[in-house]
Amino acid sequence: MKVLKGIGISDGIAFGKLRAYRKDFFSIHSMRIFKEDSESEISKFKHAKELALKQLDVLYNHALKDVGEEHAMIFDVHKMMIEDIDYSNSIMNIIRDEKANAEYAIWLTSRNFEKKFESMESEYMQQRAADVRDISRRLINCMNNYVQTDVSSEKKEIIIGCDDLSPSELLELNRNYVKGFITILGSRNSHTSILAKSMNMPAIISLGDQLKPDFEGCNVIIDSFAGAVYVSPDRSTIRRLKRKKEMYDKQQELLSSFKGKDDVTLDGQKITLCANVSNILDIEAVRDCDASGIGLFRSEFIYMGKRSYPTEEEQFKIYKTAAEKMSPEHVTIRTLDVGADKQISYFDIPKEPNPSMGYRGIRVCLDRPNIFKTQLRAILRASAFGNIRILIPMISLLDEIIRSKNIIEECKKELKEEGLKYDEDIQIGIMIETPAAVMISDVLAKEVDFFSIGTNDLVQYSLAVDRQNDKINFMFNPQHMAILRMIKLVCENAHKEGISVGICGEIASDDKMTEIFLSLGVDELSMSSPFVLGIRRKVRGVNVSAIKDEILSKL
Ligand code: PEP
Ligand code: MG
Repeated sequence: MKVLKGIGISDGIAFGKLRAYRKDFFSIHSMRIFKEDSESEISKFKHAKELALKQLDVLYNHALKDVGEEHAMIFDVHKMMIEDIDYSNSIMNIIRDEKANAEYAIWLTSRNFEKKFESMESEYMQQRAADVRDISRRLINCMNNYVQTDVSSEKKEIIIGCDDLSPSELLELNRNYVKGFITILGSRNSHTSILAKSMNMPAIISLGDQLKPDFEGCNVIIDSFAGAVYVSPDRSTIRRLKRKKEMYDKQQELLSSFKGKDDVTLDGQKITLCANVSNILDIEAVRDCDASGIGLFRSEFIYMGKRSYPTEEEQFKIYKTAAEKMSPEHVTIRTLDVGADKQISYFDIPKEPNPSMGYRGIRVCLDRPNIFKTQLRAILRASAFGNIRILIPMISLLDEIIRSKNIIEECKKELKEEGLKYDEDIQIGIMIETPAAVMISDVLAKEVDFFSIGTNDLVQYSLAVDRQNDKINFMFNPQHMAILRMIKLVCENAHKEGISVGICGEIASDDKMTEIFLSLGVDELSMSSPFVLGIRRKVRGVNVSAIKDEILSKL
């Protein structure tokens, strides 16, 4: 047995076989083969093709059930592309004529087809380039027995091992089989880690060179509480961790008794406990944990799950469903916060030296008003079906609020002219996640209906600690006095103007901070669903009047 130590993400213990998840499609090597090996390379390709077609069938059926035929169709299109005669002939010709290995022949064919599609006039055909890359990657993964993120052909519980996972790759994982992941790189505050938490998927990140390729296929256990991975665990470790998992599951069950209870302290102070979501499927978990609303809907993940810009109609359906499912509770939709670690290829944002301080969030939306307006129109139309609030990210200037509000007004006017309904009094709030926004929060509070403090970015920008950099993870401290004083100042300025303040960064789920937030008068905490009931239990045990003065005197 080997024990690897890293950073545990999510609460939980997961068991499974370790499977390498290869994502680097571009590191494929050309290998000269002997003429007599051509046929065996071709049969490797044919076998991979059969496997890939089976996977696509499974995916089609899953998608049909989960998201409907319209979205499932893509897997049918992929099947047709894999079966395309020209595509297959190109691969086999490269193997035979250039004496190349199958992997390289697939890669080269993919490049050639991608270029062909990209040079076409129609935008629809240009977008097919991404599909060719997808099917080619699937074939290569099938051939090498690497795990395809969206399906496991083995139908066994697996743990994925890789260098790093992007948020969109994580979203693609088939959660029926993939029970956790372990990575060489990674940071506690990245969006991948945040998503893993809301998916309740245990993970150990930042393992460095402890994670070796020869662990592939071994049984592993992830204990995220201990930040440990056990490779080929011995019997007593398996027994011990099974017991630990049972105890954790029991504790979770006990928390269910807090469902239906108010979020109120012993001395009667109320706070609203909400959940953060990144897609419509998360809403079931929000209802299940009895959260009093959605404090943060990270809408950029809708864009990340697509190959081209989601239309107004597509977005409208998603927001409307969220509003209806959550009604009468509120749904706070944060407008697109693309950029930094949430890159979306079709946005064509050039590589930047310092992306978290670059072209992101509201900066992109104000620079590309058509994209912004499409989203705002969808949100406004959905607001007629429930209690929706608009939240604008990455504000650092008053002018950004004024311009955003003008665009919202423009959208309202258009909808009115078109006879489409929306909530006339829809609330507009901003994320407080830059030190500048904190320092002028007295001015900003006069312009908006609510604040939501994004401590993940606020810590990054205030302490000059990149939330993505695993080398300085230990310096990312949301409990730093500078941050607590900032939260205090924002609460004071908001309350002076009679608007509410929420916290939707990861710190909201830290029960060691609950007493401080209550003492500061924070109105709402929004967190990954699995944490809501634990924080409710904590809130209900606090007597704020007994601790408030002492806590405030230290800030
Ligand atoms: C934050 O910055 O705290 C936040 C909630 O936004 P995100 O993590 O999506 O950047
Ligand atoms: Mg943020």
